[in-house]
Amino acid sequence: MAKMVKKNYLLAPGPTPVPTDLLLEGARETIHHRTPQFKKIMEEAIEGTKYVFQTTNDLFLLASSGTGAMEMAVVNLVSPGEKVIVVVGGKFGERWQQLCETYGAEVVPIKLEYGDYATPEMIDEKLKEHPDAVAVFTTLSETSTGTVMDIEGFAKVVKAHGKLIVVDAISGLIAQPLKTDEWKLDVVVAGSQKGFMLPPGLGFITFSEDAWKKAEKNSVPSFYFNAFAYKKNPAPYTPAVNLIYQLKKAVEMLKEEGIENVWERHRILADAIREGVKALGLEFFSKRPGNVLTAVKVPESVDGQKLVSLMRDEFGVTIAGGQGSMKGKIFRIAHLGYMSKFDTIVAISALEMALRKLGYKLEYGTGLKAVEEVFEREDV
Ligand SMILES: *Cc1c(COP(=O)(O)O)cnc(C)c1O
Repeated sequence: MAKMVKKNYLLAPGPTPVPTDLLLEGARETIHHRTPQFKKIMEEAIEGTKYVFQTTNDLFLLASSGTGAMEMAVVNLVSPGEKVIVVVGGKFGERWQQLCETYGAEVVPIKLEYGDYATPEMIDEKLKEHPDAVAVFTTLSETSTGTVMDIEGFAKVVKAHGKLIVVDAISGLIAQPLKTDEWKLDVVVAGSQKGFMLPPGLGFITFSEDAWKKAEKNSVPSFYFNAFAYKKNPAPYTPAVNLIYQLKKAVEMLKEEGIENVWERHRILADAIREGVKALGLEFFSKRPGNVLTAVKVPESVDGQKLVSLMRDEFGVTIAGGQGSMKGKIFRIAHLGYMSKFDTIVAISALEMALRKLGYKLEYGTGLKAVEEVFEREDV
């Protein structure tokens, strides 16, 4: 067997590929963070990030992964003994629950089967049952199952009850429409290594007026993630200087493309992958698949873990397997961030080759044809 050069394709839902222009931006000389020069760069990066979040609320850049931003939301908004409603439909809904419980909140979960989604009616019902709840914690795109939630619909209900809505948009932002101000979202969190096309290491968080009001009354002691420290000075501790250079450039690129066009690009890429997957006779894991990633049920005859490792270790194509009890039962292909038509072609082509190698019956090109037809139809 001849040896093939292995070129790597990162098609997992974070970290995602980083374009060369952004990698080079990070290679620029590190400057001191307490200088007017850096202050200006940071202000511009924050302004651009607000555009991506569609907000004029306060937005902070954290030297942490996305989970740090989630923790910041919880420590500033929830006091011990307070009741919160958490939508739990996968690993990341579970993370909200764990975080809230860690800080002493009483969690009322809206427990969903993996792959299922909540409706605004379900949120309304829970808020009626628990009028003393102070906030609803939810996830735009539940990355572990590929499910996208109706955040706009949730927010209408939550705000009608006069409560806070806190959204983990870590994987969903940029791939999926999200309008922080128009939808009246109180706190939205994200991270650099998903839709932003950046390396891991930055967390983002926004606070609405209502969120600040609640934070003022909060009793949890906090230090690094105390929101008022950032309100006073957006860089209370040493910020991730080079990542912020990269962020400034990334948000310029996204603004140049236009956020509506960015959403539409992700919608088309997701449609293409979904059509490819269906054409191969495979089924979606999610009941409400989003434009971030596609979670697919592993066919009976195939070893799911082998499929993922074969694609990664032999083909150089990194997709994600299932997490927790979904391990081996699903695989997840991302169409998130710096991605174009031919990334989806690579994904479906590698999938066809790997599936056939593992004994799944298919005719070469079946999935690819469906993908290419989507691009023809969309005229892209
Ligand atoms: C990736 C992800 C996280 C975790 O973010 P880290 O940056 O790994 O801390 C949380 N929620 C969702 C929905 C994610 O996709």
